[in-house]
Amino acid sequence: MKKTLLPLLLAALVLAHGTAGAWGFFGHRTITQVAVYELPVSMQAFYYRHMAELVRQSTAPDERRNSDPTEAPKHFIDIDHYSEDNPFGKMPRQYEKAVTKFTADTLQKYGTVPWVILETKDKLTEAFRQRDTVGIITYSAELSHYMGDAYVPLHTTINYDGQLTDQKGLHSLWESQLPERFINDYKLFGDDAKYVKDPLAAVWGVIQESYGFLGETFDRASKIEKTMKPDVRFTFSHRYGKTTRRYSDVFADAYEKAVGGMVSYRMKMAPTMISSLWLTAWQDAGKPNLNELMHQGKPTKEEKEKLSTELAAWKRNTLSQDQLLLAQQKAKKVEVADEIKSAKDMGAAPKEVKEDEPAEPASNADTAAPAPAIDKLKVKTKGADGTEKIKQKGSTPQ
Ligand SMILES: [Zn+2]
Repeated sequence: MKKTLLPLLLAALVLAHGTAGAWGFFGHRTITQVAVYELPVSMQAFYYRHMAELVRQSTAPDERRNSDPTEAPKHFIDIDHYSEDNPFGKMPRQYEKAVTKFTADTLQKYGTVPWVILETKDKLTEAFRQRDTVGIITYSAELSHYMGDAYVPLHTTINYDGQLTDQKGLHSLWESQLPERFINDYKLFGDDAKYVKDPLAAVWGVIQESYGFLGETFDRASKIEKTMKPDVRFTFSHRYGKTTRRYSDVFADAYEKAVGGMVSYRMKMAPTMISSLWLTAWQDAGKPNLNELMHQGKPTKEEKEKLSTELAAWKRNTLSQDQLLLAQQKAKKVEVADEIKSAKDMGAAPKEVKEDEPAEPASNADTAAPAPAIDKLKVKTKGADGTEKIKQKGSTPQ
């Protein structure tokens, strides 16, 4: 089934910087879910009630990349463009100062993720002030997305897909193939949310850490490449006159042994920072009583029991084994939907590629791992009874 969906997946992915965005849908959704578990009691009931929606919306920024040409640079910062030796010493942390030094156009071209995180956090603070439930959910989800992106090393470099070092496909291998394949081994139990006194410094700290992992990200792949022939290293598919390539499962297994600890670590750290920024926004807004915003009333007994089951599984690191990860539950449903729609959509699918590609080269579509693509496909095929509907969807982002 996956193979027949390739044209659609190409259409969906060709528009993105690197792949569809850090972590793929699976990673973003899992990180968002875990962030809810790390909130203090005063915030948790509200967030837990809206958890499914938060999780779903956490991928909205990737979904609108297809329709909004201004979206792509918000997900990364190619910091090594500015200097390979000491980029963090050269780049001013504050946006205005960075613009003065490098111009807004240049910042747009090489990515703005640190400032977009701060901007989204401010929007969330304002939503808390206004007691705006919809805004709180939307901006919490988006903050989770952009902050999650910043945790991925390959979102901090011009060599974002290994394309400059003959390692094209590394991006989706790292952020999608590994977490999806090895989630059962990853420890997602992390620290509780804490107030962040200096969000700008904290966000830059995360990006600098991510950047620090790049050496290992590339080098450890190189080491495996030396011991593995290309026909073992890659999986090729031929479809519609096009050959596509991605890293094989054999390579993924070897790469997991080499860098899996790093992927797992970044995936564990991201939710703590995200829940901390949610908490910070809420506190800065004067700690509005979130229970009063729960229109259907206080948490029910059932909700409380469900939450405590999930918290226990999270602490034991068995969320995935216990089938409690929303990202995995969604994937199942989507597969069924796509199967039905894919056949009749096959012909029209490639036309869905739009011309509004980001300035960055985005040619690694052929290396995407299949699993997040299934999720992507949902986006592309949702209104697939006509291209108009798809465009319409694009103009009204979720
Ligand atoms: Zn992204």
